[in-house]
Amino acid sequence: MIKGYVNKILPFSSVDGPGNRTVIFLQGCNFDCLYCHNPETINYCINCGICVYECPYDALTIVDNKVVWNEKCCKNCDLCIKVCPNLSSPKVKLMTVDEVMDFIKKVKPFISGITISGGECTLQYNFVIEIFRKTKAMGLTTFLDSNGYIPLNKLGLLVENMDMAMIDLKSFDRDEHLKLTGKDNQTVIENIKYLAEINKLYEVRTVIMPCVLDNYYNVDNISKLIASLNPNIRYKIIKYRPIGVRKGVCSFMPDDKLMKKLFNLASRNGCKNVILV
Ligand code: SF4
Ligand code: SF4
Repeated sequence: MIKGYVNKILPFSSVDGPGNRTVIFLQGCNFDCLYCHNPETINYCINCGICVYECPYDALTIVDNKVVWNEKCCKNCDLCIKVCPNLSSPKVKLMTVDEVMDFIKKVKPFISGITISGGECTLQYNFVIEIFRKTKAMGLTTFLDSNGYIPLNKLGLLVENMDMAMIDLKSFDRDEHLKLTGKDNQTVIENIKYLAEINKLYEVRTVIMPCVLDNYYNVDNISKLIASLNPNIRYKIIKYRPIGVRKGVCSFMPDDKLMKKLFNLASRNGCKNVILV
């Protein structure tokens, strides 16, 4: 039975693809983005034990040198995540596909589909394929939320069982992308082109961050790329918010004037479905 590391499951979301969706956040990421809003999804727990002594509700213990989370005692205060020096969480669960499907079955009457996100969900592609396959058999839609770093044209079964994908293109400039995420953007752009070609690209997203990124350059080039592939693909331009990010990272938010300017730029470049968030 295939198992996967699950950071959390959100039963209902209206911002992770079309309609009301259940979102499954998988643990582990191959990027290390400066502005990551869920840095606790990046690494796997190394059982250092630091968080165990901080939990105010005795929901964490050490058994056989491993940290064990007692879900029933947990009040989700997230203090354990705040004190973790390893960008991880003691609340990650190793789940079977059937355990995830049992959750989906319970909420099925209220959702149009599921979105698998992260962390970076494609790192656990066999787990994702099985969940997608079983979810589609239930008549629900399957969406992937990915940083686009794993070449999707080599994951035929994943693409076959996925209805559509949402891909972040965090910077159009290779070096800037490297500085922001720790990886270059070549495969990300190739994935965007590939998904557009097979009509499975639902959305491209760029976060606007004032301190680190050349936002005008990025939106200009990314919107031109989208318009050249299919102007109806949604381009979501996201305002950076310094909430939940690591300490010492940019504390300024872009102003509304800049966001509007970028919206107009993307529209002028031919994108017909631009949204600001
Ligand atoms: S979120 Fe973490 S610190 Fe808070 S109660 Fe749960 S296990 Fe304890
Ligand atoms: S979640 Fe973080 S602090 Fe807690 S045991 Fe694991 S690595 Fe250590």
